[in-house]
Amino acid sequence: MSRTQDIIHQTEMYSANNYHPLPVVMTSGSGVWLMDVEGREYLDMFSAYSAQNFGHCHPRITVALIRQARRLGTTSRAVYTDIYNDFVQAIDVFCDMDKILPANGGAEAVETAIKLARKWGYEKKGVDHDRANIIFCDNNFHGRTISIISASSSSDNKNGFGPFTPGFTLVPFGDANAIERAVNENTVGVLLEPIQGEGGIILPPDGYLREVRNICNRHNVLFILDEIQTGFGRTGFNFAYEYEDHCGDVKPDILILGKALGGGVLPVSAVLSRKEIFEVIRPGDHGSTFGGNPLACAVGIAAINLTVDGRYASRSLNLGRYFMDGLRKIDSLLIKEVRGRGLMIGLELAEQDGIGRRFSEAMLREGVLCKETRNNVIRFSPPLIIGRDELDLALEKINKVILNWSWSQ
Ligand SMILES: *Cc1c(COP(=O)(O)O)cnc(C)c1O
Repeated sequence: MSRTQDIIHQTEMYSANNYHPLPVVMTSGSGVWLMDVEGREYLDMFSAYSAQNFGHCHPRITVALIRQARRLGTTSRAVYTDIYNDFVQAIDVFCDMDKILPANGGAEAVETAIKLARKWGYEKKGVDHDRANIIFCDNNFHGRTISIISASSSSDNKNGFGPFTPGFTLVPFGDANAIERAVNENTVGVLLEPIQGEGGIILPPDGYLREVRNICNRHNVLFILDEIQTGFGRTGFNFAYEYEDHCGDVKPDILILGKALGGGVLPVSAVLSRKEIFEVIRPGDHGSTFGGNPLACAVGIAAINLTVDGRYASRSLNLGRYFMDGLRKIDSLLIKEVRGRGLMIGLELAEQDGIGRRFSEAMLREGVLCKETRNNVIRFSPPLIIGRDELDLALEKINKVILNWSWSQ
């Protein structure tokens, strides 16, 4: 048995099988490259679901992490720390928000935003006790907790996990009128992804976010954006909503960040909002032992410092166009559509059972890491530090896999 097979076999034996990993065992990474235990290199066109926007082991992230690890680890927020003070100021300025509530994983931040919106609804909007409702979109992905899957339209995510949390309404994504129709006196928030990631890289029509913003304004409803995957330059803007935010009028009331905020090394997430909204949260209402811990703060500051000048965002926009142009030049019945913004790109393949998985495995054999989302959409979301040469290499390998494709397994 090879080292790879051996490790896969053992892992499957000792770990819950809640993922279906590609058959590769990574052991180190640097920039856009990953190395497996056999010494093979892979171009990372996946970035850990966008957690690795700065590339693997970015020196500024690594140094921030190690320095802080030598100075002070978790204290909990039972005390103040100097690094937390630095972090909250940096992130509030970066997001143009008044305040942050820190958390760890993305799902936890979405839960936090739901709690914040509900409490705001009762205390500020005057919604009747336990009647608050939040509007979500079909085909959404916001995480895996009970309440979040309660707002999911995917039976795969929900089956076997009921009973579910009430208080959520689903409407089609991209249809602002559907939101307007769904709003009532109990609606406290509209929570959506500016571009649906796990749902298959689905872009809403231009003007959608602006219309949703206006609807929220008219009905005194909080506009809540989940930018966990789209934030930090991924879509060609520091935040995906900026694509429509020409006059600063699409800004959400609550912004949720995660993934790349942790610099690819730690789970760091955040809920950001204005001070009058956060007024409803008082000591004891909500918290997390590790939320805002010194290591998270140190890498969060480093991630913000790398992003703030917009250099990665503009790279992402330009290289995304370049890569999508390359994909669109491929003439094959295998390809249904190429879509995306910045380096958040979906290659929709023809509908066939298991096609995305087979495609990802074929790419892996060519030394390129990518992964399907839904059955037949290949997501390309490389680290934003990637260059044209590497994208050319990816295109060459994609062409090769398509050219050699056999429709029967
Ligand atoms: C990944 C993701 C989440 C969940 O984040 P976790 O850290 O996996 O809990 C939530 N929303 C979006 C849009 C995501 O892409």
